[in-house]
Amino acid sequence: MTDADARPPLRDVIRRHGLGAERRLGQHFLLDRNLTNKIAGAATGLDAASVIEIGPGPGGLTRALLDAGAREVVAVELDSRCVPALEELAGESGGRLRVIEGDALTMDLAELAPPPWRIVANLPYNVATPLLLKWLYAADQVEEMVLTFQKEVAARLTAKPRSKAYGRLSVIAQRQMEVTHLFDIGPKAFVPPPKVSSTVLRLRPRPQPLTPDALAWLARTTRAAFGQRRKMLRASLQSLGVETEALIREAGVPPTARAEELTVEAFCTLARTLAERNG
Ligand code: SAM
Repeated sequence: MTDADARPPLRDVIRRHGLGAERRLGQHFLLDRNLTNKIAGAATGLDAASVIEIGPGPGGLTRALLDAGAREVVAVELDSRCVPALEELAGESGGRLRVIEGDALTMDLAELAPPPWRIVANLPYNVATPLLLKWLYAADQVEEMVLTFQKEVAARLTAKPRSKAYGRLSVIAQRQMEVTHLFDIGPKAFVPPPKVSSTVLRLRPRPQPLTPDALAWLARTTRAAFGQRRKMLRASLQSLGVETEALIREAGVPPTARAEELTVEAFCTLARTLAERNG
């Protein structure tokens, strides 16, 4: 294993490879080794399987994952300018780093590594939510994710009922995963600093997933319910084209409830009831 102190400082790598940050790619690099080590240290089982990293950039978190003993890091980076810098790191990794140039939004996890999947990433803000949703839809084979999000998005992912941040994303994520807030990172830790703070979350599958077979109905139900979050469910769910009073009664949900009062479990019951009714 390479001595971490023998590597060139990341600032030198950035300068040598001309990796001036590009806003359109959501590039905010984390150069503080204490923080990258803290993120990598929050991931478990790195020595047992491949870990997928999305958006390695100049490779700060990648270095930390390798130093934490990752068996293999599969790093997907959209920016071709970063690839030579990452290949240098691959060259001294003892074959433990595979660099793939491309758009993670268009890639299935199965193309990158065999399941079950572990993902660790400091995600680009602009595509973090679509990426997470894509992975959540494959979630029965995701073992663990340690991901950095914009703080507001993290708040939605961890939100509980009756809070302002509680919404579709909370329900879709928490249906499958236990979402844990690990720590926040202030803007100044990044180069260049973003306008907002970041939060590192851990997502692990629930021991018992809720309604694994009614995801499409859950998506429709939450869209309808939170689309009109101030309205009672018996009104907001009418866009589903069903007799809502009967549906709500059958699912055992109070008809006067509003979307933000309903637990994840109750949303799943509604979705299951709809799925059963519609075959
Ligand atoms: N991991 C590095 C760090 O912590 O310093 C960089 C993180 S930066 C917030 C996000 C990275 O994701 C950038 O390197 C950017 O080029 C890359 N990226 C943006 N969109 C991407 C996509 N669709 N697929 C893969 N990488 C992407």
